[in-house]
Amino acid sequence: MLRFVTEPRRTPDKRAPELRREDFEEIYAGFQERQAEAQASRCSQCGVPFCSSGCPLGNHIPDWLRLAAEGDLREAYELSTATSNMPEICGRICPQDRLCEGSCVIEQSGHGTVTIGAVEQYITDNAWKNGWVKPVTPKRERDQSVGIVGAGPAGLSAADQLRHLGYKITVYDRYDRAGGLMIYGIPGFKLEKDVVARRVQRLQDSGVEFVQNADVGGTLPFSELREKHDAILIATGVYKARDLSVPGAGSKGVIRALDYLTASNRKGLGDAVPDFDSGEMDARGKRVVVVGGGDTAMDCVRTAIRQDAASVTCLYRRDRENMPGSAREVLNAEEEGVVFRWLSNPKSVLGEAEALAGVRVARMRLGPPDQSGRQSPEEVPGEDADLDADMVIKALGFSPEDLPGAFGEPDLALTRWGTLKADPSSFETSLPGVFAAGDIVRGASLVVWAIHDGRKAAAGIHDFLRAGEMPHGVATVGEQSTRYDPRVQEPVAAK
Ligand SMILES: Cc1cc2nc3c(=O)[nH]c(=O)nc-3n(C[C@H](O)[C@H](O)[C@H](O)COP(=O)(O)OP(=O)(O)OC[C@H]3O[C@@H](n4cnc5c(N)ncnc54)[C@H](O)[C@@H]3O)c2cc1C
Ligand code: SF4
Repeated sequence: MLRFVTEPRRTPDKRAPELRREDFEEIYAGFQERQAEAQASRCSQCGVPFCSSGCPLGNHIPDWLRLAAEGDLREAYELSTATSNMPEICGRICPQDRLCEGSCVIEQSGHGTVTIGAVEQYITDNAWKNGWVKPVTPKRERDQSVGIVGAGPAGLSAADQLRHLGYKITVYDRYDRAGGLMIYGIPGFKLEKDVVARRVQRLQDSGVEFVQNADVGGTLPFSELREKHDAILIATGVYKARDLSVPGAGSKGVIRALDYLTASNRKGLGDAVPDFDSGEMDARGKRVVVVGGGDTAMDCVRTAIRQDAASVTCLYRRDRENMPGSAREVLNAEEEGVVFRWLSNPKSVLGEAEALAGVRVARMRLGPPDQSGRQSPEEVPGEDADLDADMVIKALGFSPEDLPGAFGEPDLALTRWGTLKADPSSFETSLPGVFAAGDIVRGASLVVWAIHDGRKAAAGIHDFLRAGEMPHGVATVGEQSTRYDPRVQEPVAAK
């Protein structure tokens, strides 16, 4: 260990931009055993590991780095999986520069952070390869059942935790495949689909039942689930796309980011996608403008490149330093040929309703800080410019759908952002026996936070069921839970 002075920091090999533009496969090769051991050995084994405090899951990072450096990969896997339900997925898509690696002390001392994410990915990929990742076999089976609405990372992590405890688990999802945004949002070049599918398969092999195409609150009433199960977890994510409110925004050719990404992911999975085949969701040969600066915008620009767009431009109203998307992904996008126009905001969409021609772009500057401390962008008068475009993709973020309305539960309490109010330690909502986790609680966030919440909510459900406070199926709509603390008004801090 402590080799950070002699062993330089190395990241896994990245495929050349001209090769990776041609397909949707992951762009990093992943470490080989020797590389993983060498990189893990750079850790200085801090007495107070800031990397662990920087990780939402509190992963035992220095311990599994030491085990990996010593070649004890099985132990490293056991330790890594003790705090995370999908370490190989976090290793691939966590913005480590803002989490564990951003807190690493050797980074602070100028030696370059330990490549924690890449080693984490290696440890669990290697465990899958060696057959060490097994289905869950609970020590005892319990009679009680839990219904989980949403098969994203929050729902899947809770299912894993609760199955370990012996509960009967049914996961309901309105899509035809489980995985949530990890399947239909995040493209394969960041996270290949079979990496998610094997996690789902493991849960199926563990006895977790999946009911796909089940639109809870639509075709399947929420009250039916409450009748059927002893506790419910709502892990439905946030899907209402924020709109572009400028003249011409309703023109044909102005599309929503998630519709675009879902069409592309479905195509990659071999589905029939009429919207893609008609050309509406296909960027081939088009001049594409993506509006937004988060992870979703980055995934859209890089998808358009792979679909062989004629040009891809990203408009973001603040500057590079203030961009919410991961710095690593911005760099990857630039290497692949995306043009970024910082301090740029769409002012109107040009052309006819049926024939998009371009975007009028206002030049912005950063003004005084707002209440959150971030500098607010403001328009520089007289500096508009017109940009040709055949496709405009809106990637402006997401807000929650109206769950109390859809679920017929007017007493399901919301925050002022429309997310579900949940107790910050048990994750129970205002309805007794009904818990919530992931983006629907914290707003659009990260996979690692969804895992964190799914684990916490599972612990809350276990406490609830052990206490035997809700006899099977008798929770009354509108009844206030004894564990729900109405003083807790804010959602868990969004990341
Ligand atoms: C394009 C994009 C890229 C991203 N990239 C990253 C990244 O690189 N790294 C990262 O950490 N995070 C990333 N994120 C964020 C991350 O995907 C989410 O924070 C995370 O998936 C939230 O997990 P969740 O389980 O709460 O919800 P979701 O993953 O959204 O899953 C919710 C599930 O609930 C189902 N559902 C919803 N309503 C109902 C209903 N009424 N009935 C039945 N089922 C329902 C949905 O079909 C879905 O399967 C990205 C997000 C997007 C959109
Ligand atoms: S902060 Fe960096 S050097 Fe310290 S224990 Fe964590 S990974 Fe190792």
